[in-house]
Amino acid sequence: MGLGIVMGVWDHIKNSGKFPTATNWALDWVGMLPGKREARRLVGDHILTQQDLMGLNPEFEDAVCIGGWNLDEHPPTGFEDPELPPYVSIKLPGVYNIPLRSLYSKNIRNLFMAGRNISATHTAFSSTRVMGTCAVEGQAIGTAAALCIQHNLPPRGLYEDKAKLKTLQQTLLRDDQSIRGLKNEDPLDLARKATVTASNERENCQAANVINGWVRALPGYDNQWAAPLGADGAWLELAWDTPQTIRQAHLTFDSGFQRELTLSSSDAANVDIVRAPQPETVKKYSVLYQTEDGEEWTELASVDDNHQRLRRHYFKAVSAKRVRIHVKETNGDPLARIFEARCYV
Ligand SMILES: Cc1cc2nc3c(=O)[nH]c(=O)nc-3n(C[C@H](O)[C@H](O)[C@H](O)COP(=O)(O)OP(=O)(O)OC[C@H]3O[C@@H](n4cnc5c(N)ncnc54)[C@H](O)[C@@H]3O)c2cc1C
Repeated sequence: MGLGIVMGVWDHIKNSGKFPTATNWALDWVGMLPGKREARRLVGDHILTQQDLMGLNPEFEDAVCIGGWNLDEHPPTGFEDPELPPYVSIKLPGVYNIPLRSLYSKNIRNLFMAGRNISATHTAFSSTRVMGTCAVEGQAIGTAAALCIQHNLPPRGLYEDKAKLKTLQQTLLRDDQSIRGLKNEDPLDLARKATVTASNERENCQAANVINGWVRALPGYDNQWAAPLGADGAWLELAWDTPQTIRQAHLTFDSGFQRELTLSSSDAANVDIVRAPQPETVKKYSVLYQTEDGEEWTELASVDDNHQRLRRHYFKAVSAKRVRIHVKETNGDPLARIFEARCYV
């Protein structure tokens, strides 16, 4: 039937006379593998529902990722029911959390799910099925599986062990997974104990924001450090009362999430999209440190052409009294912007 429909549409394009620009078009390929939406769904300890997505139920303690697409229901009978609207779309109040319990089976002891097979009702799945959401579910269960192996636990065991569940959530946040309402509380992050100063601060974008745990702008609160780039750039500094042994510095930059990045042929959707490094993202920077007695800054890392949101730098262990991030250039924006700085042994 699918092939019949494709040929019918093609016949209309070529022979109806309504599309003169199609005169010299040729059909050179038609996919032979039908794409099916709800192939398999499995049942987990929790079945995600429309009410969960609409924010009508209490928040999940085991949230591990988010979704945000509208409820977007297509009639299962598709072309066979031409009198039905092709889809019904209901806007959600905001992004919603997905619990770990929807990502493992309730009766197969060692089975995780991510993607179009997760434990969700037909209506909840009409939102969760989109590729970005499938991908962050994969991130969640990959990390969960690694913890299960490390501690010899089945998936449900990880849910039941609340300390390990928290480790899972914090590990995900450290990898820049978004989980609504959860912030960095990683006890291993040395930056959280630092005093933060900067060359300059824009109003509402204080230096200390880089250790407040949040890595997204929230309505009315930018949650980042931002400062104008002077002739010598701008800098942000972490300082400790006693020197810290540091082998890693993690930086989260602003990648312009306020602009919707999407693949679309619609001019209206494309108008604000920047198909290049995002202007707000820091392009050129270095990470430096100072020892307890020294006044000199020694370089730990230097980057000239960054376009990524999360950058991690690994180096030989140093004993640092201060760590400085010197921003020299952005991808176009006049402000240096950093959402988060983390340091680890
Ligand atoms: C027509 C259509 C249009 C869509 N449009 C959009 C869109 O515009 N935007 C969007 O975000 N999402 C869209 N989606 C939804 C989204 O693409 C899917 O929900 C998502 O890709 C599912 O990913 P998945 O990894 O769960 O499953 P799949 O991508 O189906 O991956 C499952 C894989 O497992 C393999 N497999 C199956 N059985 C076995 C086996 N026994 N052994 C080994 N391998 C096996 C399959 O070959 C396949 O490669 C669309 C879906 C459809 C069908």
